[in-house]
Amino acid sequence: MRSHAQVVVIGGGVIGCSVIYHLSKLGMRDVVLIERSELTSGSTWHAAGGFHTLNADTNMAALQGYTIRLYRELEEITGLSCSLHHVGGLTLAESPERLDFLKSARAMHRHMGLDTEIVTPAEIRQLSPITNTDGILGALYDPLDGHLDPSGTTHAYAKAAQIQGAEIILRNPVVETNPLPDGGWEVVTEQGTIIAEQLVNAAGLWAREIGAMAGVYLPLHPMEHQYFTTDDIPEVLAQDTELPHVMDPEGESYLRQEGKGLVIGFYEQNCVPWAVDGTRWDFGHELLSENLDRIGDAMEFAFKRYPVLERAGIKTIINGPFTFAADGNPLVGPVPGLRNYWSACAVMAGFSQGGGVGLTLAEWMVDGEPSRDVFAMDVARFGDYCTPSYTRLKVRENYQRRFSVSYPNEELPAARPLDTSPAYAIWQQQNAVFGAAYGMEHVNYFAAQGEEAYEIPSFRRSNAFDIVGEEVRAVRENVGINEVHNFGKYEFSGPGAHQFLDTIMAGKIPPPGRINLNPMLSRNGRIIGDFTVAQVKPGVFQVAASFAAQAYHMRWFEQHLADTEVILKNVSKERIGFQIAGPKAQELLGRVTGADISTAAMPFLSVGEFDVGQCQAIVQRVSYTGDRGYEIYVPWYQQVALYQLLSEAGKDLGLRPFGMRAMMSLRLDKSFGSWMREFKPDYTPLETGLDRFVDYKKASDFIGKAAALVEKESGVARKLCTFEVDAKDADVVAWEPIWHGGEVVGYVTSGGYSHYTRKSIAFGFLPVELVEEGREVEIEILGEMIPAKLYLSPLFDPKNEYLRG
Ligand SMILES: Cc1cc2nc3c(=O)[nH]c(=O)nc-3n(C[C@H](O)[C@H](O)[C@H](O)COP(=O)(O)OP(=O)(O)OC[C@H]3O[C@@H](n4cnc5c(N)ncnc54)[C@H](O)[C@@H]3O)c2cc1C
Repeated sequence: MRSHAQVVVIGGGVIGCSVIYHLSKLGMRDVVLIERSELTSGSTWHAAGGFHTLNADTNMAALQGYTIRLYRELEEITGLSCSLHHVGGLTLAESPERLDFLKSARAMHRHMGLDTEIVTPAEIRQLSPITNTDGILGALYDPLDGHLDPSGTTHAYAKAAQIQGAEIILRNPVVETNPLPDGGWEVVTEQGTIIAEQLVNAAGLWAREIGAMAGVYLPLHPMEHQYFTTDDIPEVLAQDTELPHVMDPEGESYLRQEGKGLVIGFYEQNCVPWAVDGTRWDFGHELLSENLDRIGDAMEFAFKRYPVLERAGIKTIINGPFTFAADGNPLVGPVPGLRNYWSACAVMAGFSQGGGVGLTLAEWMVDGEPSRDVFAMDVARFGDYCTPSYTRLKVRENYQRRFSVSYPNEELPAARPLDTSPAYAIWQQQNAVFGAAYGMEHVNYFAAQGEEAYEIPSFRRSNAFDIVGEEVRAVRENVGINEVHNFGKYEFSGPGAHQFLDTIMAGKIPPPGRINLNPMLSRNGRIIGDFTVAQVKPGVFQVAASFAAQAYHMRWFEQHLADTEVILKNVSKERIGFQIAGPKAQELLGRVTGADISTAAMPFLSVGEFDVGQCQAIVQRVSYTGDRGYEIYVPWYQQVALYQLLSEAGKDLGLRPFGMRAMMSLRLDKSFGSWMREFKPDYTPLETGLDRFVDYKKASDFIGKAAALVEKESGVARKLCTFEVDAKDADVVAWEPIWHGGEVVGYVTSGGYSHYTRKSIAFGFLPVELVEEGREVEIEILGEMIPAKLYLSPLFDPKNEYLRG
């Protein structure tokens, strides 16, 4: 065996093979895949081979579309057949909520160039005469859906990669992976040792074990999964053309034609995690014992939906394991904490997603970043809270919800609560309705006393609507209080801190006592963070951004720290507190501190370190509500004391706690964008208006400067805009198409209801030539065309005069 390679990929399932295909396609010539047995020796060989584009994340859906279109290319390059059956697919809707869900997916697909459509029960019967449509309201039809031969397809990827120069070594288990001082990896295999400059873990069912060899836990878990094939069925034999796939969410099943019979598989509630203590090394081309009892109810339901099944003999039953991450999306990208170690794991739909995963990883490794935002499958979207037991509970929940409607306001219950702040118990007493992000509980809103603390999942305005309105008005009219524990916070200090921040942030680094809003850019000038940078005291900075992006941001910081003299601490969980916001916020803070917080002493965008009551606080005069406000950070163990102090002092000022729902409504009044909605790696500063915070002239050659300057020179084709929407009972969520002149010209990034202005608001992209005050467009919300009007100045305090006062 050779002794050195640029890249070693461990695992010859469909994912490993897709990775080497894409790496070699992008020009990497020295790529080796090592497989312990034959290709397809994990979950790949017993897959049902179905593929589809439906995914709640648009970029994931687009990558699934890419994967499906790739198969013809593989066939052409290799002359091998993937046995493609592009038969189309139907996803049935048995309830108005599901129909809403499918309509919103259909709307999303419009600007992604995917040609799906909503069909009626009569059209369903025409396309799939074996489907009983009793109780069915409609379906989403996707002409791209189909199935293929899993083994043939994996071999096609492999051969195409070999044609492009990649090497595949079979029957050679990797037994150790050891990091080298130069950042490379020593990969010890049964056939010898190979030094890899970069290592990819694509070991599927064994990804956890391969990760453990490098000392990391990859948060995924395998689940058992069953499907069966039938003997020939006369009604299928009688068809001239192959039947389309049918997904029946109500019955938790998927069905397709196989030969002249059918294949039906189930995502049952009574599901079983597999290999809880790890995957055996000697697990090979074997199946798990079948358990029809587990899917008994689902089968009974299927007999009603497809009456032909009742008369059909069962030919084979397959029960096999495959892996999931906590949210069902893959784990791709550089593994935090390791150098030159990449994940291509937890791909639960290898034949829908494998091409996209391979392409993304290859772009990342070759070009330094993927060509689109892939946070939805970034391995760094999870953090340390994602332990094996947490992952297992979440994976089980995800499996059970495979066919559930995903509502925009829904909070999933498994493995909660996990992380809570000390204020959690206080909020519980106040009838709080909680959400969770990145393992941490936060208040969404406070239900009225005597009412159940539960927000009913809906695509339309929910039961929380009125009470969130009250919270919003309490902020705008008096003063509101809300936790700041769910920001990611980092302390930078040490002699190199200023220079380091000047290099990774695109904006000005504030002088001591001041705060700046600061975009962080990738090399290609894309937005990878929107930070609040505060120089708390000379040389000591508090840098805050999204709580859920902690591992993502820490990975970037650490990748660039190198030999700088910087001390970096993630203080997200230890430095927490409250923001107080509203016209009476200044008065409230003044009552509990001896510090001079007058506007002259502490203007908008300033920061100070002083006692608030008996608590040692960092106070920032800034608020995402767009109101006059302060963020007060204290050590976590002083949070309850701070609350008691503020709530006592604020009683006669009308102080009222508010949650994230109110905060997200308040930001609309000021047209404030938010992370992963308006600000993410798909967008640039000039497109989103963040260019006003980029210091193009600063001396520092900050990361992304060259790209940002080119963009500034050449201009952009689209701009982020704000719209007032004539919505009735459903506001925008995200990805709704924006229509003008009978064409889709843009899409929505987020929005909602502004309770203060009593207007429905949408943020979204439009081509620059259409951007003008009063521009009338239509936004497609749940299948309905809703008039909307563009406006250029924020609705609340457009010139920030009140804010600065
Ligand atoms: C019953 C069933 C039905 C399914 N149906 C579908 C479907 O219809 N559509 C769909 O898209 N997906 C389906 N899937 C899921 C699909 O099979 C997976 O998404 C896919 O196989 C994942 O591929 P992988 O390459 O990540 O992992 P694996 O296929 O598990 O590949 C990992 C490879 O790594 C190798 N390896 C492990 N350890 C080492 C080591 N130490 N040294 C060297 N090599 C090593 C293994 O031998 C193996 O070949 C189904 C799965 C099951 C179980």
